[in-house]
Amino acid sequence: MTVPRISDRARRVPASPIRALTPLAAATAARGVRVLHVNIGQPDLPAPPEILAEIRPPEDGIIPYAPSPGLPATIAAWCRYYAEVGISFRPQDIVITTGGGEAIGFAMTVVADPGDEILLFDPTYASYLGFAAAGSITLVPIPLAPPTYHLPPAAIIASHITARTRAIVLINPGNPTGAVCTRAEVQTVVELAREHGLFVIADETYRELVFDGREHVSAMDIPGADDVVILVDSVSKRYSATGLRVGCVASKNPDVMAAVTRLAMARLSSPTIAQQAVIPLLDAGTTYTAEIRAVYESRRDATYEALRRLPGVTVARPEGAFYVMVGLPIDDANHFARWLLTDFESGGETVMVAPGPGFYVTPGFGAREVRLAYVLAEDDLRRAVSLLEEALAAYPQRDVA
Ligand SMILES: *Cc1c(COP(=O)(O)O)cnc(C)c1O
Repeated sequence: MTVPRISDRARRVPASPIRALTPLAAATAARGVRVLHVNIGQPDLPAPPEILAEIRPPEDGIIPYAPSPGLPATIAAWCRYYAEVGISFRPQDIVITTGGGEAIGFAMTVVADPGDEILLFDPTYASYLGFAAAGSITLVPIPLAPPTYHLPPAAIIASHITARTRAIVLINPGNPTGAVCTRAEVQTVVELAREHGLFVIADETYRELVFDGREHVSAMDIPGADDVVILVDSVSKRYSATGLRVGCVASKNPDVMAAVTRLAMARLSSPTIAQQAVIPLLDAGTTYTAEIRAVYESRRDATYEALRRLPGVTVARPEGAFYVMVGLPIDDANHFARWLLTDFESGGETVMVAPGPGFYVTPGFGAREVRLAYVLAEDDLRRAVSLLEEALAAYPQRDVA
């Protein structure tokens, strides 16, 4: 018998950089060491209680499929939500997905054939790497300069466009960078896309999480966005409901939405009960999101103020989302992140971080960076940073040059 072998593209799908160290962390915890998790964007805040009220067995005991594009009531609620944030979508412009993750997969599949290129700003959100590999799509990275990770000028972005380029991904606010695009930056991307016949995949999962009174500029706000912009969105972060798995793809381009709808048919349906549960949230206006924005802003301050005092560390004040990329005086962030779990502890505690290289498309980038997610209480965040400081002092491979 010949043993069957999996496809090359499946082989190329990378493991999630933020999940790869999970077994090591479990072993650390099993030794009785408390692990402070700033490695993953899992909010510690309770979801709005409205969700729980809606998660209940149906009266007739039947749990039906939802229509492939989504429950009409949920689509209508997304339309009202978007109207509230100043974006006008009609029901036919929206398909509900099983989380923002599925929305990313649908959007990439719709814009690119195998061998086509999608531009994105590097570092990026790791799901784009996975779906690109699965679809044999080439990601072309446009490097962002630390520590602020703002976009380079239009000419630099344009220099990456080739005959095979199909789309530009814009994650705003940024994960892992914490950068919030200015209106000029968003406009540059949308205008370049229009000029060169490209789509913009606009990932605005963290739309409400912008700090210091900043305004969030949606790619849909830019004149001429209607044909080119495909929004990918999610309730996961803005309503602290990652496990509910509700997101959407939204665009005013009818060809895009027809194709997304056919993909949605292929997977039949997104969970009916979860779609019902998000309706009151989407209708709740900005009450909950304003509360959590204040919480994250104050955590951002606690984390940033602690980090900027560490010797040899480079960091800029994050502008949104709940992440910060930190430059460290080390040569191999993957090794350091493992070492924190296997060889370091102080007072029975250690800290788990996400190594930089997993967020980069460009090989070799991120070796001196880690991402922290400020999803813990402020005292725990300060403790996490002080553990990082002690660890850096004790780390044998510290680069003191
Ligand atoms: C978390 C996240 C998503 C998707 O999250 P889901 O839980 O799948 O909805 C998409 N994009 C970015 C940038 C994210 O951080």
